[in-house]
Amino acid sequence: MARYTGAVCRLCRREDQKLFLKGDRCYSEKCAMNKRAKVPGQHGVSKKKSEYAQQLREKQKTKRFYGVLEKQFYSYFEKAEKKQGVTGENLLQILESRLDNVVYRLGFAMSRPEARQLVRHGHFTVNGKKVNIPSYLVKAGDVVALKSGSKDSVKIKSVLEATANKPVPKWLDLDRNNQQATVVNLPARDEIDLPVEEQLIVELYSK
Ligand code: SF4
Repeated sequence: MARYTGAVCRLCRREDQKLFLKGDRCYSEKCAMNKRAKVPGQHGVSKKKSEYAQQLREKQKTKRFYGVLEKQFYSYFEKAEKKQGVTGENLLQILESRLDNVVYRLGFAMSRPEARQLVRHGHFTVNGKKVNIPSYLVKAGDVVALKSGSKDSVKIKSVLEATANKPVPKWLDLDRNNQQATVVNLPARDEIDLPVEEQLIVELYSK
């Protein structure tokens, strides 16, 4: 399946939830969810959802937050099932440990789509080696850094200014001066501020 290339604000309206896919626009009055928070389509959809519909929407919403396609998302689920602990929490932990998400969480990008693009363009290193794979999974102890040649990038500088006061999750230890961060640990559920009910996803895939 190809990556979705349509109007991303439509995805937020579909999920009836801000997915923060367009950077600073998402925090402004221009956000489509402020203007018209209706589900796309002429009449929207019924408010009452079946159990299956709720589970499906939760999965779609989570995929869209992280910009992950079905096949990869399901492979994360399988990986989460094999790990010790609660499958839903493991799933979110895996998603959070994607390099593009880490770059976004650190404030090097205004949105996950922007972070994905910056990673693809080779602006980051992990433990000193260039990594341009957005789905690369970091682990505790890894050091994620802006590549030295990218520190003068006008675009990245302006993003860093804009996100200077953005809180960084505790599981990432950011050194702003050196534009690098250490992954202290992989996040527990209460360190992941994502408005999803991951148990519904587990129920969906367990049918
Ligand atoms: Fe979603 Fe951002 Fe568009 Fe608002 S501006 S609808 S949060 S992508």
